[in-house]
Amino acid sequence: MARERKISFPMVANYNSVVKYFVEHGLNAAFIMPPKLTRRTVEIGAKNSPDYVCAPFKTLLGNMVDALEAGADTLVMTMGLCRLGYYAELQEQILKDLGYDFEMINLAAYSTGKNRDYFKAVRRLNPRVSLGRLALTFAECLKMVEHIDEIEEEYYRNCGFERHPGQYKKVYDRFLLNMELARNVRDIEAGYLKAKREFQAILLDKPEQPLRVGVIGEYFTVMDEFSNLYLEQKLADMGVEVHRWMNLTHRNIHYQGQKNLGVQISEYCRYEMGPTSTANIWCAKNYAVHGFDGIIHLKSAGCTPEIDIMPVLQNISRDYKIPVLYLTYDSQTSDTGLMTRVEAFYDMISMRKQVVQI
Ligand code: SF4
Repeated sequence: MARERKISFPMVANYNSVVKYFVEHGLNAAFIMPPKLTRRTVEIGAKNSPDYVCAPFKTLLGNMVDALEAGADTLVMTMGLCRLGYYAELQEQILKDLGYDFEMINLAAYSTGKNRDYFKAVRRLNPRVSLGRLALTFAECLKMVEHIDEIEEEYYRNCGFERHPGQYKKVYDRFLLNMELARNVRDIEAGYLKAKREFQAILLDKPEQPLRVGVIGEYFTVMDEFSNLYLEQKLADMGVEVHRWMNLTHRNIHYQGQKNLGVQISEYCRYEMGPTSTANIWCAKNYAVHGFDGIIHLKSAGCTPEIDIMPVLQNISRDYKIPVLYLTYDSQTSDTGLMTRVEAFYDMISMRKQVVQI
């Protein structure tokens, strides 16, 4: 047992239930669930971060402070394909300068692509970990990720059209809670099947051709609803069918890789442009080809890879005559400012749809 360790991982979208399951069942250690992100989290993060870093750095730093104050003594930080790969080192230094006593497991230091190196990181968390148990738990975690992503996709596509408002949200929230409380694979499957059944029973008033918007963008900002100020919920509440390809299932578990996607977008870009850039260009083209009414591109202020794809998105917009709304988030972004832009975009695409349909 490695119960003496209290491990935490900064909050990312709805995936912390998966991390909790992995730590408790695969590593046989205690997991400290970081408190949900709040304005206070962002303020603490922003106050202690260099000004010029992107918003995910600040939000994650604030969330690490929350986790340490909640009792964690070990933080695990992910690696990344952009400057995210350097973040753990800097965050560790900042937190130690602030006086926190903890151990940082920086996965970037182990990301050689070789399983044995990842296993070294795991061994640091629990030297007596069982390889068989770890492999089994990992497979169960992948299942949980797929279920979370599938239920979330279904939620945002349909919740704006329910006949009795609030039914989708109730099922969705209960599903997320069931994932957080899951103690074994049976609980995971039961929670998933229950949510699927309950979704199917909800009555919808959905037009034959609803407004469809594809949401693309930077990995963290696009998936984390708190960080994008609940953009997808805002769109759904206006009566939009919201699609988002970017999630762990598509981008990590079943990713087709640069080669395949690159071929499909070769007229727009010839080289890999960054951690999520190729996939986002591919998504934008896909939404355009399939007649979506609009695309919304999200990024954190100062996110170089996503700034780089904006001219390419402009080309797709021009070629397929599809409107694109660009949203940039930082720790100062206000809900009111966002709402004004999203409402204007909604008005524009709905008027355009009426004209196009005549
Ligand atoms: S992808 Fe962009 S926003 Fe995300 S960590 Fe990298 S630079 Fe920052």
